[in-house]
Amino acid sequence: MNTIDLRSDTVSHPTPAMREAMAKAEVGDDVYGDDPTVNQLEQDAADMFGFEAGLFVASGTQGNLVSLLTHCERGTEAIIGDKSHIFRYEAGGIAAVGGIMPHTVPVQPDGTLRLQDIRAAIRGDNQHFPRTRLITIENTQNAAGGVALPPQYVQSVAALAKEHGLKFHIDGARIFNAAAAYDVPVAELVRGADSVTFCLSKALCAPVGSVVVGSRAFIAEARRKRKMLGGGMRQAGVLAAAGLIALHEMSKRLHEDHVNAAYLADSLSTVPHLHVVSQHTNFVLVDLTPSAPFSADELARRLKLRGILISGYPNEPRIRLVTHYWITRESIDTLTAALKEALNEVQIAQ
Ligand SMILES: *Cc1c(COP(=O)(O)O)cnc(C)c1O
Repeated sequence: MNTIDLRSDTVSHPTPAMREAMAKAEVGDDVYGDDPTVNQLEQDAADMFGFEAGLFVASGTQGNLVSLLTHCERGTEAIIGDKSHIFRYEAGGIAAVGGIMPHTVPVQPDGTLRLQDIRAAIRGDNQHFPRTRLITIENTQNAAGGVALPPQYVQSVAALAKEHGLKFHIDGARIFNAAAAYDVPVAELVRGADSVTFCLSKALCAPVGSVVVGSRAFIAEARRKRKMLGGGMRQAGVLAAAGLIALHEMSKRLHEDHVNAAYLADSLSTVPHLHVVSQHTNFVLVDLTPSAPFSADELARRLKLRGILISGYPNEPRIRLVTHYWITRESIDTLTAALKEALNEVQIAQ
């Protein structure tokens, strides 16, 4: 990757080792269960997370959708964060495809759903009400700035779900970042959950794919749902080969991205007109101060001319910067210098 791209960790390219493994991957028809590389990825993921079985899916969105379709019948309710990816950024799939009612609960600034809010959202047995089926949380919580939810909190949600006979799904798109933040194995962050989706792309650098883990019976049913959604893939071992490197090797280096994110936050705090809002895991949120000569959107445009990509939003001062494998300390120094220049440039022009 030549451009410095901090818009997201989804932009990360596969590593040279992944490309080599993809070229050499042993493959078969995965819908027949014949792809040894996919089978290995699914089993290794299940083992690492402490579940019986795994399912390779095209994306995190597909993983969440097959999970919720498997847990919830039409007309039932899922308790879900109001700033969760499933609620905001998955094109309404659970409602459109599954007839599932989202019952939203506010996501707190620390990324959690308060236990009392979850409890209050659980429906009683009354013919007027939809039936509550599921609780879902997101770790790390994207919209709260990549904050990692601690194992104790996850376990308290699991206990609450169990107490009420509800299923518990974790959208763990970036669960390895949460595990790195607390320096615990991922299994410890998902104990008591019925299903977990995690992404092999994003910070783990695989080009495509996510995995859902759960019980053998759950995964068998989720496999049918995946097929229904057009997600039965054939020689997918080419993709799973990169996924195995993501799972076993890339998952171990994420603390480097977090150290870089802390360095990025420190560096940005020296730039005039910028206010660092937060840094959690590999996310840094920054606001342009009212003194800034132009919008975040305009700043993004100016940085692009210098070969640096950031996410600016029209009419919003907020910028999100995400570190990943391809962002080094040097890229951060280049960004900081470019920001100082770009923000200064206009003052001179004025
Ligand atoms: C990225 C992401 C997903 C899945 O996204 P895809 O682009 O469909 O892989 C799900 N949940 C969260 C919290 C995410 O950040």
